[in-house]
Amino acid sequence: MTNKRPSRLRFNFGFFLESQLGTSRTIELNYPTIQVEDLTLSPLAGTFTATRTSEGVYLSGTLNTTLIDECVRCLAAATIPLELKLDDLFYYPPHTAPEGEYAIGDDGFMDLAPLVRELTVLETPIQPICRPNCQGLCMECGQNLNEGECGCEPDPIDPRMSALQQLLDSSNN
Ligand SMILES: [Zn+2]
Ligand SMILES: [Zn+2]
Repeated sequence: MTNKRPSRLRFNFGFFLESQLGTSRTIELNYPTIQVEDLTLSPLAGTFTATRTSEGVYLSGTLNTTLIDECVRCLAAATIPLELKLDDLFYYPPHTAPEGEYAIGDDGFMDLAPLVRELTVLETPIQPICRPNCQGLCMECGQNLNEGECGCEPDPIDPRMSALQQLLDSSNN
């Protein structure tokens, strides 16, 4: 499969873990483009607060990004703005992260990439479209109808549908 690239969202929180409970830091991210696991985010920007708690480090804030996805109608690139809300505790030993939660490594590094990926996937529409009124592709010739008419005749009505329509009409009479 793909080579696993080192995450650019790793932060050294070692110093932080030595500090008093309640200590907090504001961290600003501003990447014009960043690869987060299998996703390309352009940009990834925003601010979050990291606060030392008894169990680890609590992150709170908002990141803004746009995801480049494929439009389900016309297959062109769709640019989708997303707002990612950080509201997560990263556990630190001796506290172990419950299933599905995140932890800071023994080395004091916290990798934000899996969380950012998870939030991005949660926010991504199931059927991304490039624009609200995307015309899609012509079923006949495959032309992108956003770029103009192709001149194909509209589809004839499916004979099974017209038979059903007749049935409905007769049952109404
Ligand atoms: Zn489209
Ligand atoms: Zn056509």
